[in-house]
Amino acid sequence: MKTGACLCGAVRFRAADVPDTFGVCHCRMCRRWTGSALLEVSVPEGGVTWAGAENIARRATSAWAERAWCRECGSGLYYKVTMQGEWSGKLDIPLGLFDEPDGFKMSHEIFIDHKPDSFEYGGPARIVLTRQQCVEKFGALDSE
Ligand SMILES: [Zn+2]
Ligand SMILES: [Zn+2]
Repeated sequence: MKTGACLCGAVRFRAADVPDTFGVCHCRMCRRWTGSALLEVSVPEGGVTWAGAENIARRATSAWAERAWCRECGSGLYYKVTMQGEWSGKLDIPLGLFDEPDGFKMSHEIFIDHKPDSFEYGGPARIVLTRQQCVEKFGALDSE
């Protein structure tokens, strides 16, 4: 069980079955949403309990996914695939929201060809996919 919160603390969460890995998305939408890249820990939605849920705002940001944030401080809270399929049932929670963000390993970086050339992440065992490789793998993501 791991815990976390938004910047102002109006929204807190407890999450079960949290993996020790995180992924990075450099797509245009995640870049604009976060201001940089989305570093996300993908957790089973059913294992997440929220405190201050009335402060969670949600928006469908594409035909297959929504993003949520704190109404009070604007912190991004999760990315969720709403289309049924392989990726449904998970919340991609930003790594930085966790109270104890140490110990996670980067497992993958996607839309690597959309990453600004001004910075690079590292890590020995991560999988790196271009936008086109993502489209081929996930199909529905063709407009991000
Ligand atoms: Zn907040
Ligand atoms: Zn993205």
